[in-house]
Amino acid sequence: MTASRLIIMGPQGAGKGTQAALLASRLDVPAISTGDIFRAHIGGGTELGKLAQSYTARGELVPDEVTNRMVRDRLSQPDVSGGFILDGYPRNAAQVQELDGILSDLGVSLDAVVELVADRAELLARLRQRAVVEGREDDTEEAIARRLDIYAEQTAPLTGAYEARGLLRQVDGIGDIADIADTIAAALDVR
Ligand code: AMP
Repeated sequence: MTASRLIIMGPQGAGKGTQAALLASRLDVPAISTGDIFRAHIGGGTELGKLAQSYTARGELVPDEVTNRMVRDRLSQPDVSGGFILDGYPRNAAQVQELDGILSDLGVSLDAVVELVADRAELLARLRQRAVVEGREDDTEEAIARRLDIYAEQTAPLTGAYEARGLLRQVDGIGDIADIADTIAAALDVR
């Protein structure tokens, strides 16, 4: 199986992070979550973390120039040479373009884009539950709604571009975690 340069897309609460991690271990490639990288910087109190926090806490996107540079650096690390799963990037049209540029500079291309599909009512219920369990700073009612709005307005339309390239694989994000992981693997022809 050669599909090892992947994006996993889907609204917050659709189980993207969980599925990215499962798929990454199946494929033995790193899962790269921009949200996790920002949270690590915020936790470490770095300059990047301070800047990111002023956006993440409100559910807004961190400015593209900051995010793009961070992703370019990460994708240039040696452990990514055999493949990667991007979780949470790209999130808008400018980031799609930047990613195309980064990959072309690296001389590689995407193999597939997985979109986890789930409806808003289900997502809201899951995110409220996660807020109780994990206590994420950006899981306030306002920030949750803002993140889902941004996803619907800016991120969901990006799947059209990937579909036109023949890369899109849509998978139902509601159900048993292991079943969804198997469905994703089948959609990617991963054994
Ligand atoms: P996530 O864990 O993917 O939900 O990301 C948490 C937060 O990090 C988001 O609400 C944004 O504030 C920020 N973030 C993550 N990925 C990106 C991105 N690709 N572009 C801009 N901001 C991002």
